[in-house]
Amino acid sequence: MKNDTWGRVKQQLLESVGRNNYANWIEPLELKKVDNGVAVFSVPTSFMANWVSRNFSETILIHLKAANAPASRVEFRVEPHQTASAAEAPESKPLSKAAAPASQKPAEPQVQDAPADDLPGAPLDSRFTFDNFVVGKPNELAHAAARRVAEGGPVTFNPLFLYGGVGLGKTHLMHAIAHEIRDRDPSLRVLYLSAEQFMYRFVQALRDRQMIDFKQIFRSVDVLMVDDVQFIAGKDSTQEEFFHTFNALVDQNKQIIISADRAPGEIQGLEDRIKSRLQCGLVVDLHPTDYELRLGVLQTKAESYRAQYPELKFADGVLEFLAHRISTNVRVLEGALMRLFAFASLVGREIDLDLTQECLADILKASERKVTVEEIQRKVSEHYAIRLSDMIGPKRVRSIARPRQVAMYLAKHMTTRSLPEIGRRFGGRDHTTVMHGVKRIEELKGTDSQIADDLEMLRRTLEA
Ligand code: ADP
Ligand code: MG
Repeated sequence: MKNDTWGRVKQQLLESVGRNNYANWIEPLELKKVDNGVAVFSVPTSFMANWVSRNFSETILIHLKAANAPASRVEFRVEPHQTASAAEAPESKPLSKAAAPASQKPAEPQVQDAPADDLPGAPLDSRFTFDNFVVGKPNELAHAAARRVAEGGPVTFNPLFLYGGVGLGKTHLMHAIAHEIRDRDPSLRVLYLSAEQFMYRFVQALRDRQMIDFKQIFRSVDVLMVDDVQFIAGKDSTQEEFFHTFNALVDQNKQIIISADRAPGEIQGLEDRIKSRLQCGLVVDLHPTDYELRLGVLQTKAESYRAQYPELKFADGVLEFLAHRISTNVRVLEGALMRLFAFASLVGREIDLDLTQECLADILKASERKVTVEEIQRKVSEHYAIRLSDMIGPKRVRSIARPRQVAMYLAKHMTTRSLPEIGRRFGGRDHTTVMHGVKRIEELKGTDSQIADDLEMLRRTLEA
């Protein structure tokens, strides 16, 4: 079977299993071959092999058949993909023989609202509501702006432009606005779609000679939301049409909400007149998540999973560990949690640190902190206005020793370096010196609010 057949089958699977399941379970699969009625896949972990085999084998077989690549069973080989460490090297063994019936569906089925009446919009995810959105420092402004727009009333900023990195909640906030506006006044015509879909509709209208209809529809909405607008950068005629649609709606005082992965001015290949139009309204960004926000999200999600799996228990410290170790992208965080629950319910064990590390080895590895001891030393020296050479040098006066201990503490908590390794990077100090320094800062953190603030500040800048 050709690669592009699997590509097409994956598209079908995306539709049938939903975006979350797809990202967690289907996307990582690699089809090796279909041979003698056996479809052989490589998967990064044995856990994943088990889960996919139990829950998706049948669906995969159905879609393979529909794509003219029939197989009667699927087989999984565990081959750590590039993110896995060399230590887990290529032991490759068939894990699953039979295509087990999909008895138990994984958590979080995708429930979607149909788009309003005749509008060519994308469906809204019913879970993306304001109630389900966890607010923290990094997203409070974006959240407040979204709330304001969702309240309706006079259009005060047009457009609202939300931007930020992947998985930080842009789409979630846009759907939340759409839900809220529709709930408040079902007669309002709210059109939500991605920029990619906008382009697709536009091309289709051109081809079918229905540009008049196209223009009419897009100019008749009360609220237009276009997600991931960076997609139309460099696509000239789509941009042109978007620009006219945009202007027509602004002239009618209709609300427009746009998202992108970066600020308007930074989108390469976007016409200047569009950039400046986009900058006319309110531009707010979603910052990378911080520890507290991640923990908040994890707690909220874990709570909702617990309703589904009342028998599952978390050991203390697991959520904190995840909030610490998994990077800023909330989608990755959610995926990790979902997998943990699935795994724990499969093996019927309490979710403790061991199980977490075993089950999430690949994710943890992939989002390993890139912060280095040297970076920490540099930032801490800057923060306390001391020389980097003093930080690693022999001086023992308090004004230098304290920052040094702060740096040791951060190195211990933000890197995977061992105490002796850290000691070596601090001018060849002994590991007991490092241990003492870390301990000292741990004590001070509780009693000295200045130190606590410094640590927080430094951690934030280093994580950013
Ligand atoms: P983006 O569009 O910015 O790439 P999404 O809006 O698709 O990100 O968010 C990715 C996932 O993370 C979604 O499942 C979303 O519900 C979740 N998510 C993001 N931010 C939050 C938050 N603050 N509270 C709860 N869930 C969040
Ligand atoms: Mg998005």
